[in-house]
Amino acid sequence: MTTWLKVTATCLQDITIGTGATRAFMSPTMDHVPGSTVRGALARAWRFKHGDGHPRFRDVFDGTVRFGPLRAIGSDVANQSVWGCKYHSDHGEPEYLDAAFACPHCGREGTVDPCPGCGVSPRVAPSMCGRPGERLKGTIMFGAQSTKLVTSTAIDPERMTALESSLFAREVFPRGTVFDGHIVGDPTLTALLKDFERIALGGRKSVLGAVQLAVEEVPAPLPAQPTGPVVLRTVSPTILVDHTGAPSVDLPAAFPVGVVADIWGGRLAADGTSGWHAASRLPKPGDVALAPGAVIALSGIDGHDLRRLLDEGIGLRRPEGFGWLEIVEGAWKPPAKPAVQEVQIDAVVVHRFGPLTRPERKWLAGWLRVPREWDDSHYFAALWETATGKNLNPRKREMVRELLEATLPGDRTALASELERV
Ligand SMILES: [Zn+2]
Ligand SMILES: [Zn+2]
Repeated sequence: MTTWLKVTATCLQDITIGTGATRAFMSPTMDHVPGSTVRGALARAWRFKHGDGHPRFRDVFDGTVRFGPLRAIGSDVANQSVWGCKYHSDHGEPEYLDAAFACPHCGREGTVDPCPGCGVSPRVAPSMCGRPGERLKGTIMFGAQSTKLVTSTAIDPERMTALESSLFAREVFPRGTVFDGHIVGDPTLTALLKDFERIALGGRKSVLGAVQLAVEEVPAPLPAQPTGPVVLRTVSPTILVDHTGAPSVDLPAAFPVGVVADIWGGRLAADGTSGWHAASRLPKPGDVALAPGAVIALSGIDGHDLRRLLDEGIGLRRPEGFGWLEIVEGAWKPPAKPAVQEVQIDAVVVHRFGPLTRPERKWLAGWLRVPREWDDSHYFAALWETATGKNLNPRKREMVRELLEATLPGDRTALASELERV
């Protein structure tokens, strides 16, 4: 038996999800949070809370618990079963036609190839606004502009002016953006993931931002209609191998139970499979993967097998969220613009230096003014070894850690000045 957790993450700061593709002074963000990033962030929070050597660490972060991708509210994976109108002009016509549910030519319900209604295959591009439609590609689509570009400069501490040619830019999801997704696994292990209210999200070598986390137990996301054929889709890249262990793109073979009645997929993922191995702290190379948004109609599968399929996903590296499956309840629609919601931003972020005393702020500023290599395993250990660092209580340490993790290397001097001013 497994437990499903729903994870809701609210950005308390602007956040860049690292792609590893950072160019000199410009860091783009990924358009979602991969499961591997969620896992890495929780593992970091865990280490900070429990220290190294907790007996369940490996079971939770390097075992069967699966960390799914998080998507921003108001975004969705574009299913590959959908024909889209490339230059949509006639608003009396549909902009999207989902061939997993109806014939894109005559609208007849069902997915028989060729269509018994009009005799044309649903795999032939329908005419949309007078041109051939185009299949969607499994990318993330947004209902509204969701990211923005933030630039900052390094400050010359002597003159308090911007240092020349030290401009940094990064693409961010702004503070207040809400992401959600799931974690699934053994109840005794997932129970240990419920009490993290705050984590730092980002990516390898990128700046981290604080996120407020809500983790709640939810029922497994089974279909509303429990009988009959079921339509599934992948929402993350899927890495398949054949029986000899060689890379494979044979998606139907990944479904050993039920009958694959229809399949829309086969695109290769452009990127997104390289990751970070939490336990060994080493980067992992990328694998050949199928793009998200693959749509599979399965018949002859019972509720028990379907639950197992959703629990376990398909392919390799499933604990990192690869091969994550979702039920598709109806024809795909483009994501709606997210409703503007009142987001409660934690007070600690508003009062950036919260409970730090004046001497503590001076100490931290002094530390920041000395250039140092940012090294996850040594940076904070050395900071806590200093005379003032030794005496910080856990709450202050957590605050300092979050503050530093959320500050770009080029912004550290500016932060030091700010600490000395207030
Ligand atoms: Zn059109
Ligand atoms: Zn038809």
